[in-house]
Formats: sequence, C-alpha cells, structure tokens
Amino acid sequence: MSFSTSIITLFPELFPGPLGVSVLGRSLSDRLWSLQATQLRDFATDRHRTVDDTPSGGGAGMVLKSDILARAIDLVSPQGDARPRILMSPRGTPLTQQRARQLALGPGIVIVCGRFEGIDQRAIDTRALEEISIGDYVLAGGEVAAMVLLEAVVRLIPGVLGDADSHADESFESGQLEYPQYTRPQRFEGVEIPPVLTSGDHGKIAKWRAEQSLALTQARRPDLLQPGKP
Ligand code: SAH
Repeated sequence: MSFSTSIITLFPELFPGPLGVSVLGRSLSDRLWSLQATQLRDFATDRHRTVDDTPSGGGAGMVLKSDILARAIDLVSPQGDARPRILMSPRGTPLTQQRARQLALGPGIVIVCGRFEGIDQRAIDTRALEEISIGDYVLAGGEVAAMVLLEAVVRLIPGVLGDADSHADESFESGQLEYPQYTRPQRFEGVEIPPVLTSGDHGKIAKWRAEQSLALTQARRPDLLQPGKP
C-alpha cells in the first residue's frame, strides 16, 4: 500500500502544485504516494453552498462551520482509517523533522486546511484533529502549510529519494545544522574549495564536517544543542 494523503480544502486546484515536480512529482506518478484533494464546499447543503459563518461572541472574519467540516472528514477518513488527521494551525505543535519522519513511516495523512479566522472548535475536538503549525507567523490559509508538511514528509517515505544515505547528514537529522557543501570548479572567483575536501582522506573529511556542523549550530541555533532537543 502506498502512502495515502487526503487534503480537505476550499482550493483543491492548488494541489499538487509544487509537490507535482521533480522527485516528489515522479514518485507521485509512480504511485509511491497518492494525493486526493477534496473540495470542502461540496459538503455544504444550502443553495449558496455556504461553508462559513460569523464568529459566536462577535469579532472580525468568518469561521468554517463544524457540521460541514465533520461531514467532509467523515467521508474522506471514515472510522477505521489509521491515518492521523491533522489540522494546519498557527496554534499547533511546531512541525519538526522528527514528526515528519514519524509521519513518513505511517500509512498516510489526512490534512484539513483552515481559511478565514479558522475553524469551529467542535470540529477539532469531535474529530480529534492534531494541530500542526509550520512556524510563528500567520498565513491566509492552510494550503501552503499543508504543502510544506507534505513536502517534508513525502521525501522521507522509503524509496522516494533514491539514496537512503542522503537523509543521514542533513540539517536537523543529526540534531545539528549541515556543514557547508562545495562542488567544482576547484577555484571560483579566486576562492578554493577547502583542501581537506579534495584530500581523499575520509577520516579527515568526516572530522572537518563534524567541526563545521557544530560551529554553525553553536553560532546560529544554539537551542538545538540544549539537552532534550529532538
Ligand atoms: N485566527 C487564526 C488564524 C487563521 S489563519 C489564529 O489567530 O490562530 C487561516 C488558516 O491558515 C488557519 O486556519 C490555518 O489553517 C492556516 N494557517 C495560518 N498560519 C499557519 C501556520 N503558521 N501554520 C499552519 N497553518 C497556518
């Protein structure tokens, strides 16, 4: 069974978007993963296909209605569906490489994209939605956030990136930022590739990379070096 992703959104035409090109796009055509984008508006019941209403208690904007969201979620992810149900939300747990790795080992993901002021809390509670944030800023909708989550997860699905080793060294995988990379030409605008990298001494190269990673992490992201970090 391939990794199955379902998106509930008011803008299904945005998908696969950037997920349809390059390695992820090829693995989508090769059915290593699947993507189904469902139009939330199809679950509206009135003539105007209304999906939102004004916030109870007052205030600006509109709120996506719980009954319509629940109907969409129940159809896309019926009882017994083992896939985690995720709501993209600035209030959610920040997305990490560790969570992306866990999700990639599972059967797939169901993602709800919010819009406007957000969604009725009862849809979150009754459908046990896990709220995930992609960062401490507010987007206009959950679609781009869902693409970020999917892009982080899908590239980790076994078989999607040809070389399994290419994950091991990356930023965050080791708990540190990645060392600087170089490739030919040997000399660019007067700057040489660090000689150790062309020395052929694999022990020295590994040591240099480890030092560079640590120095970069200390300078830019000392928080990653705190004990207890994923
Ligand atoms: N009023 C809400 C923000 C709504 S933004 C609040 O203050 O919390 C509209 C939608 O965009 C949200 O429902 C969510 O799906 C999406 N969104 C906005 N920022 C996001 C973020 N940082 N991470 C993930 N999703 C986000």
